[in-house]
Amino acid sequence: MIHYKTDEEIEKIRRSCLLVSQTHAHIARMLRPGVTGKQIDREAETLIRDHGAIPAFKGYQGTFPGTLCVSVNEVVVHGFPTDEPFREGDVVSVDCGVLWDGFYGDSAYTFMIGEVAEETRRLLEVTRESLWRGIAQAQPGARIGDIGFAIQDYAERQNGFGVVRELVGHGIGRNLHEPPEVPNYGKKGRGTVIREGLVIAIEPMINLGTRHVRQLSDGWTVITRDRKPSAHFEHTIAVRANGPEPLSDHRLIEAEVAENKELSEMSAKS
Ligand code: MG
Ligand code: MG
Repeated sequence: MIHYKTDEEIEKIRRSCLLVSQTHAHIARMLRPGVTGKQIDREAETLIRDHGAIPAFKGYQGTFPGTLCVSVNEVVVHGFPTDEPFREGDVVSVDCGVLWDGFYGDSAYTFMIGEVAEETRRLLEVTRESLWRGIAQAQPGARIGDIGFAIQDYAERQNGFGVVRELVGHGIGRNLHEPPEVPNYGKKGRGTVIREGLVIAIEPMINLGTRHVRQLSDGWTVITRDRKPSAHFEHTIAVRANGPEPLSDHRLIEAEVAENKELSEMSAKS
């Protein structure tokens, strides 16, 4: 059953989402070649706990080891933080969730370490734009399928990238994952009707090559079958009477990326 949120609940989710975005911004200041996933993971955990919040992913389903999912290059999502140093040319997707005052926040951002291949930069820009096109569909009276259609149409049909099917966005609130599921593919006019008070995480996972993925034997890490890079951008949004309102804020991250000479910036627009 979908739980539609009150204004007060939405403000609590916003607070959690902003802590997630601040965590991403902190990571954006640290990232450079030589830094490791475990280093950013420790920093993220400290920052979240210093605020009195709880890392949402650590121990998820009893087994996820990190505060962050750190997914490098061909890793689509759910990568473990490791001691492997990031290298020039890597793309690093960082997914973060927190639980604060009874409510979850969830957001993801993909960083470029140094200069990356032009086609990979385009993948990131298309993925971020597909997220915004999905968000724009989250209007009262529209349907969940409208969101997936907008993402798939832009990423797959207009730009030729692969939209991952096995993993989807989700409702969020007192639970990290609640109904409804929010696929990144779909048909216009299909699925659950979107109503005011719906809070969902929209999170396109887009591959440079084919859409096909496989899961490693660790039970978590999802990689592209063709080993080409993948990108992941995620916002938690609330549906208000006049349309969608993002609760997480990538502008905090992008301001730090702009200041960090060891990272590449995407084109303006967020
Ligand atoms: Mg996430
Ligand atoms: Mg999510």
